[in-house]
Amino acid sequence: MKVIRYWSVSNARWLQRVYRGLETCLNCMHPLLQRLGYQRLDSGFAAVEKVVKGFLFDSKSCGQCTLGETGMACPMNCPKALRNGPCGGVRANGNCEVDADMVCVWVTSWEGSKAIGNPESTIQVIQAPVDVRLKGTSAWLRAVRKKRGATNDI
Ligand code: SF4
Repeated sequence: MKVIRYWSVSNARWLQRVYRGLETCLNCMHPLLQRLGYQRLDSGFAAVEKVVKGFLFDSKSCGQCTLGETGMACPMNCPKALRNGPCGGVRANGNCEVDADMVCVWVTSWEGSKAIGNPESTIQVIQAPVDVRLKGTSAWLRAVRKKRGATNDI
């Protein structure tokens, strides 16, 4: 829902703190998660993420979450699925050239990044192209495995 998505961006500062806190908790739980088996846990975590991030951010469950770097705005809401900044068609009022009733995802991303503070440090992170094989998998568990140096990504 767009109104919730915009609310989340305008509250990006504390939402990102919650997000970072969750990340820290999951990182601390790595030994337990590893023991239980990341593969076995993935569908459960993905289901929770779909509900929570779907409600707050209109997340499309791409499995490669960028919310922490994009001002708590999900770039997958861009009709062109651009993950590294806007196309050349942003309207003069800041709305999307494809969906005139929607503020361009990258305008909201910039606003969210400003709300968090020091926007250049996060929004300039180059995001990898979306890997469709990861759609519907847990981005949270993937972030933990990445931080812990695990290589079995899919
Ligand atoms: S205007 Fe923004 S949201 Fe719309 S297609 Fe271009 S980059 Fe994506």
